[in-house]
Parts: sequence; structure tokens; C-alpha cells
Amino acid sequence: MKVAVVKESAPGERRVALVPETVPRLTQAGLEVLVEQGAGDGAWFPDSAYSKAGASIVKTDDLYATADVILTVTRPDETQVGRLLAGQTVIGMLSPLIEPALAATLAGKGVTAISLDGLPRTLTRTQAMDALSSQANVAGYKATLIAAGAYGRFFPLLITAAGTARPAKFLVLGTGIAGLQAIGTARRLGAQVSGYDVRPASKGEVESLGATFIELTAVSDGAGQGGYARELTAEERQAQQAELTAHIARHDVVITTAQVPGRRPPLLVTEDAVKAMAAGSVIVDMGASALGGNVAGSVPGETVVTENGVTIIGAQNLPSSVPTAASNAYSRNISALLLSMVTDGALVIDPADEVQAGVVVAHDGQVVHPAVAKLLRPADRTGGADDVDRAGN
Ligand code: NAD
Repeated sequence: MKVAVVKESAPGERRVALVPETVPRLTQAGLEVLVEQGAGDGAWFPDSAYSKAGASIVKTDDLYATADVILTVTRPDETQVGRLLAGQTVIGMLSPLIEPALAATLAGKGVTAISLDGLPRTLTRTQAMDALSSQANVAGYKATLIAAGAYGRFFPLLITAAGTARPAKFLVLGTGIAGLQAIGTARRLGAQVSGYDVRPASKGEVESLGATFIELTAVSDGAGQGGYARELTAEERQAQQAELTAHIARHDVVITTAQVPGRRPPLLVTEDAVKAMAAGSVIVDMGASALGGNVAGSVPGETVVTENGVTIIGAQNLPSSVPTAASNAYSRNISALLLSMVTDGALVIDPADEVQAGVVVAHDGQVVHPAVAKLLRPADRTGGADDVDRAGN
């Protein structure tokens, strides 16, 4: 079976789905690895490193003409989709709950689509395949570095002959995978760190990193299903925003990561909260999206400086900005998933398997993932992705 690694097509995307180090794992399993010319360049993996690891470097046309399985990081663009042939399989982060139409197109072409975003993340055997976690980890690290770069003062306490600098007061709102990594990185830079999350379970995790957990009276328990947060009611949201405002005003740097599966990111930092911050403060909104983010006024991919001197950075694809580390981790994730589906050198689709039920989106000409199929039915489409969670419930 020929497994091919394509050059990513999304603008600015620097990651690659498979790194040279992982190639032998696939070849030892009897798979042949093809790599599109220059696929690893953005992440500093030259073609020669892939060849040395046992892969064949191929031209784009040859890759699409001969591959059985195509590995990608993000969704293929229209040109790439146009090249796909019936019987081929695409594995990547295809965001089918956000872009169900892609799943329908691939199904229509007879292409099998497998998306790592649907992986059931709490099973022991899926830990090594969890690309959402590995990429969130990279993103949380980079968010702290971006905040440190934009902040006009030091993060650590510094005592020098020229005076003493107090440590930066650093707050993370949403302490899941990305938030905890942001906290750890800020602690290593010497900031005075606090964290807040609606899930009470995260208190222990925040404190174990040496940060202070902020408890609000507004929302006592915002835990939902599967370790994720639930969507708050309008009253809870308002009370949470109001109570957070006082905490935000006391901090110099705020990083927000809050997500609720299948819903728009909740607004945590209101316009009033931004106005209450001191000039020179920095906010990095990791939830920034075209639909709105965690911070009033944030724009994805842009830096906005407010009238009162607060810098609001709308983060966008942070994992791509740490391309080597992000690709290394992703490569382990995608190869672990692929190998779990290979028997005697061939890909075996088994809808009865718990892991496959989460990741296989399109197969045999049909959109087989129930949550994605639901989004494609006109009568059910009104709520869009707002109606489903990542596991497809
Ligand atoms: P996520 O990206 O869905 O959300 C980020 C954080 O935002 C979460 O901690 C969430 O609780 C928080 N949040 C949502 N709404 C909020 C609000 N209104 N106010 C404040 N915070 C809010 O989450 P994630 O990082 O993917 O992980 C979420 C949970 O899943 C964590 O508990 C994590 O440990 C767990 N998880 C477990 C495994 C495993 O068992 N192996 C794997 C992955 C994730």
C-alpha cells in the first residue's frame, strides 16, 4: 500500500503530516512511503532526509496518480480535491463539523475521508493519536511567547543595579491542554501566574503547575460531557463576565483559550474588561475566529491596539508557527492512527470499531459519520456546527 505525504496547501501552513523520523515505522509495517517534492521544507525537513529514511520523493502528478492513502495536516484545497481518485483515502484534520461540504464532496468522489478531529480522546489506546491535544500543546506554548514578545516589560522579577522590575501578572482563562501549557511556559519565564476554568477539576491541574486558581461565585460547575465544558446559560455568562472583569483588570497579560465543543467560543473578556486594563497590557485570544472569540474586539490573525493602550492579538494557527515541533508530534499521531487501521499491509475500515466510528467521515460513497451526515441534511442544518459536539452527539 502506498502512503503519500502531500505539501500542505493552506496559506501560511508550514507543518507537514509525516516527518522523516516516522517513515521507518510505516515501512517496517510493509507500507511504501511517497513524499511530494518539498513537502517538509516549511518544517525544515528536506527531501533528502525523507529519502534517507526510506521514502520516495515524487512529483505532484505521480503522487495523486498512484497513492492509496494520502496524509495531510489540514484539509486539501480545491485543486488537491480535484486530483483525488475513487478508492483513495485521505487522513488529516479535515474539520468535518465545520466543513461538512468537504466530506460530502469526498464521499461523492468515492474517496474515504478520515479525520483526526473526531478521535475519542479519553481511551488509553488513542492517547498517541490525539492530534487535537498535541497541537493545542504547541499552541499554548507559542501563545505565551507571543504575549511575552508583545509585552513592554519583563515577565520575571528582576533585581538589577538599574532598579527592580516586578514580575508580570499573567492570567490564563480556560485551562485545558493549551491553557496548562501556556501556564507552564509563563511560569518558566518567571511570571506570576493565575488560571481560571469553568471545570472545577482543572483547579488541581493549575495548582500543580505552581499557579493560583481563581474561583468565581458566578458559575459553580461548568463541566459538561467527556471532560469538556458545557455551554453556560445567558445569566451564568453575564455573571461570569462581570466577575472576571475585576480579575482581568489586575493582570498585565491575559491568554484566553476557552472552547465549548461544537459551539462558538464563549466571550470571557468584554469591552468593559478591556477598558479596565492598564495601558501596556497584552491579551492573546486563542479562541479568535471569524464568528467572534473569547475577547471583545479580537480579530483572527491581527493585532489591535485599543484606545486605552491594550494590545489584543487574535491568534491564528499557532501550531504552524512552531512547525518542526508541531509536525513531529502530528506525525506520531497520524502514523499511530494509520497503523491501527492497517492489517497485512492494507487499510481495513471497520465501522464497528470505537475509534474508527469517531474518525471515519466518508466511505463507500457515503458520509458515514452521523454528526456530519446530520449537518448535511437540509432540515437539520439550521443550527450548523452549534448542534453537535466533537464526538458527534
Ligand atoms: P477545549 O479546547 O475544548 O477548551 C479549552 C478550555 O476552555 C477547557 O478547559 C474548557 O473547560 C474551558 N472553557 C470552556 N468554556 C469556558 C468558560 N465559559 N469559561 C472558562 N473556561 C471555559 O478543551 P481541551 O483543552 O481540548 O480539553 C478539555 C478537557 O478534556 C480537559 O479536561 C482535558 O484534560 C480533557 N482531555 C482529556 C484527554 C484524556 O483523557 N486523555 C485528552 C484530551 C483532553
